[in-house]
Parts: sequence; C-alpha cells; structure tokens
Amino acid sequence: MRSYSHFINGHEVNGSRSPTLPVINPSTGHSLGSLPLAGNAEVDLAVNAAKKALSSWSETPPAVRAKILFRWRHLIEENQEEIATAICEEHGKSKTEALGSIGRGVDVLEFACGIPSALKGEFSTNVGRAVDSYSIRQPVGVVGAITPFNFPAMIPLWICSVAIACGNTVVLKPSERTPSAALMLAKLALQAGLPAGVFNVIHGAKEAVNGLLTHPEINAISFVGQTSTAKYVQQTAIAHGKRVQAFGGAKNHALVMPDADIDSTVDAILGAAYGSAGERCMAISVIVAVGQQTADRLIVKLSPKIKDLKIGAPTDATAEMGPLISQDQLTRVTSYLEQGEKEGAKLIIDGRKHACPKTGFFLAGSLFDHVQPSMTIYQDEIFGPVLCVVRVSSYVEGLNLINGHPYANGVAIFTSDGDSARDFCQRVQVGMVGVNVSIPVPVGFHSFGGWKNSVFADHGMHGMEGVRFFTQLKTITSRWPSGIRQGVEFSLPRVE
Ligand code: NAD
Repeated sequence: MRSYSHFINGHEVNGSRSPTLPVINPSTGHSLGSLPLAGNAEVDLAVNAAKKALSSWSETPPAVRAKILFRWRHLIEENQEEIATAICEEHGKSKTEALGSIGRGVDVLEFACGIPSALKGEFSTNVGRAVDSYSIRQPVGVVGAITPFNFPAMIPLWICSVAIACGNTVVLKPSERTPSAALMLAKLALQAGLPAGVFNVIHGAKEAVNGLLTHPEINAISFVGQTSTAKYVQQTAIAHGKRVQAFGGAKNHALVMPDADIDSTVDAILGAAYGSAGERCMAISVIVAVGQQTADRLIVKLSPKIKDLKIGAPTDATAEMGPLISQDQLTRVTSYLEQGEKEGAKLIIDGRKHACPKTGFFLAGSLFDHVQPSMTIYQDEIFGPVLCVVRVSSYVEGLNLINGHPYANGVAIFTSDGDSARDFCQRVQVGMVGVNVSIPVPVGFHSFGGWKNSVFADHGMHGMEGVRFFTQLKTITSRWPSGIRQGVEFSLPRVE
C-alpha cells in the first residue's frame, strides 16, 4: 500500500481527521491507499505557509534561485525511475511514456533554470533630461496550481518550476487520481535547498479547489483539466480577484492530404491516437482525409496496426497501451462507441471485441469511419482510444471543418507540399500546429496553449508566456541627480 499525505511547509501533514478517497490502480481496479482530502483547514495551513515564505523567496536573487532549480533538476533525474513507477501504478500508462513525460517536465525546469536571463528588464536612459525609465518583472505572489490526472509530473513541473523560478510561492493540488508524483517532486525540491513553504502540496477534490479559488491570500491560479472545470475555475477565480489561466480539453485533428507519405503518416497518427490510451490533451482523435482514396489507403494501413496494438499493464514491458483511468471513464468511452453507431458512423474496429487483460479498466483501440461533423463522437472530447475518420473532398473543406470546431488545442497537417503546409499554418484557427508532426507540444523555451474552448487565459504555459503570467510588470521613471530644480508643473510631464 502507498501512504499519502499533504506536504506543507516542508513537512508531511496527514490530515488524519479529514475524509479520504481510495487511489485506484487502473490496471487492477484495486486500491493503492487512502488519500486525505484537504478541507478549509489544510488549505489555510498551506496558503499561510506559502504566504510566510513569500517575502524571503521573492527577494532571493534569481541566480540563487536558479542554483536550487539546477539541483532540483538533478535530483528529479536521479529519482525518475521511482517517480515513473508511481505514475504507472496510479495512471496505468507505460513506463516509457511515464519517463518521457517526466523528461518533458524537466525540459521546462531547464528553461526555468535560465530565469536570471528571462527576468532581465528593459532600460531607457535619458527619456527626459536626467530622467531614466526602466521596467522590471516582479512575482505575482502566492500561486494556486490545480492539475489533471493524465500528466502527474509533467504538468506540475510546467506550472510550478516557472512560478517558483519567478519568485512566487506555490500551493499545488494535483489530481486526486494520480497524486504521488507531485508529492515526490515537492520533497525533492526541499532536498535541493528550496526553502520550506515555497512549494506545498495539498490533496483533494472540489472542496480543496474551491478553497484555493476563494482564498484571499492566493494571488494567481494556474489550472489544467476539462473545459467545463476550466470555465468554472476561471469564473470563480476572477470573481475573487485573482489572475487566472485555465487550460481545457481538446479535439485534435490530423488533416491528411493526398500527397502525404502514407506509411510515416500512419505511424505518426497511430502513436498520437492510441498512446497513453488516448488520454492526452494533444492526442489525435480525428483524421480529416482529403479525398476518398486517401481515406481508403489510410484505413487499409491503419486497421491491422490498431488490431495488433499490445494492450497491457505497465508492468508488462511489451505493452503499448494501458488501461483507462477509471471505471467511469471506461463506461463513458464505451458509451461513445454505442452512440457513434446509433448516429450512423461505421465502427470498423470495435475495441470491446479485442483481447484485453481481464482486470482493471482496459479497452482496446477503436476506429470509426464515415463520421459526420454533426455527430456527438465528432463534437465531444472522448479522451480514450477512439479515432474518427471524416472524409472531405478538398483541402479547403477540411480546413473549414477544423476551423469550425469549438476546441482548438492542437492540429497537424500531413503533406509533402510546402505550399499547402504554409497556407495551413497561416489559416488554421488552432493554438499549436504540426507539419508532419502529430503531437506538436512546444519545447520548454517556447509556450504551450490552445485557442477557443481549449483555453481560458491571456498567457500560455511555460517559455516566456509562463514568465509573463507569473510576474507583474513594474515601470519606474527616475530623475538623478536630485539637485535639479524643475519648479512646479500642473500639466502631465512631457519629454523634452
Ligand atoms: P478534471 O477537470 O476532471 O480535473 C482537473 C483538476 O480539477 C483536478 O485536480 C480535479 O481535482 C479538479 N476538479 C475536477 N472537477 C472539479 C470541479 N467540479 N470543481 C473544482 N475542481 C475540480 O480533468 P481530468 O479528468 O483530471 O483531466 C483530463 C482533462 O484535462 C481532459 O479534458 C484533457 O484534455 C485536459 N487536459 C488539458 C491539457 C491542456 O494543456 N490543455 C493538458 C492535460 C489535460
């Protein structure tokens, strides 16, 4: 059994009087341990610890902060096997995927290690006679971070490493379904020399989130999860006077042109659709095939590969796809298979009929053809191993279809024609675009973020967008030497 506790002010706090929730291993359906759920008392304790640590940490020179972040990065790499094992047990993804996602989190931490350079301000000398003007970026204060189940280390690192590097202190509430990685990261940060109280972790569900969203000492909220929760988080946080960024769900399309290299396109889409059982916000869930022949060729090549996917628990090193996160999610995804058939789509491969481990929440890959834009399976984010093919007769029809979808996180075009690729990049209404790249997640020193219903934020995650979100701009205008007499001015000062 795993033991779970909050991590507040550098100590484990077990919240022994709080209610608990079992953390379920989705490969077996069995409980891994009891998670204490934070109520107002634990939220208060964590926020007060973060508030207390704020002035000293925000005044710590960025270069000194960076030294600690470098040590944190080193410790995460040293302990990545243990973190990955916890992710595999609680999430069900394969070990390679778990290690890969930790690596993508560490990429952002590496960006955060360069914070002295990212925080360099702007300086203008002589904006007036003996007057200089300069802009600096200061921390926003205490940050509440709320993260989803599907990337238990990566997303906490994307948010918290940049927030902490910028001089803020953090209370992180990871998903109640995959809580261990966040706890491990916070303990390693303390070991790396991060002062107690700078990075706190509380567990919980809605009550804990509400505690953060409404707490008077929280200055900013960074959230990642479903669109319905993201909207709620954004509205509640704004109503309580906080700066907020909330990233939501997705329905990512792959537009396949007739001139695409079919074999490499099939490989790219297979991994992007079924990797991590389709439980990625950047998973490809719709193929938009331009021309009947393109669709037919794709389906002929994809179908045997989908049937051959090796389904198994992460303890099976040969498994390519693990279980879904919960029984509820399994029921939800299979209900979409029924709904799609009812609405008239052709279920070419039915994941319910393929061999899977008998325990846990496994479902093999499914493929729908002849999906129409009005169908629920096209409109909704399914968040499972279900791929839909929509047939269109031209590039423009495909582009318009994608631009009409309410989600706009990621998208990809597969083509060997530079003109089409360039036109697509210019005209597609989506935040992250891949050209012959199926999962265009930006690297750590660029920024992550969708458009439309996939995001409720003015700034993206990590890269300079992260720095902008986690800092506030201050512009100083100063006159030296002080001996100069200006006399009284009643009009707005002008540059002369
Ligand atoms: P979720 O919205 O259910 O949960 C996210 C967080 O919000 C969790 O910490 C959870 O405890 C909390 N929460 C859930 N319901 C709440 C409520 N009613 N009130 C207050 N807090 C609540 O999301 P999930 O199922 O954990 O994650 C999957 C979703 O996240 C998918 O929709 C996926 O596309 C999205 N996602 C988006 C991105 C992105 O960057 N855009 C990245 C990863 C995942």
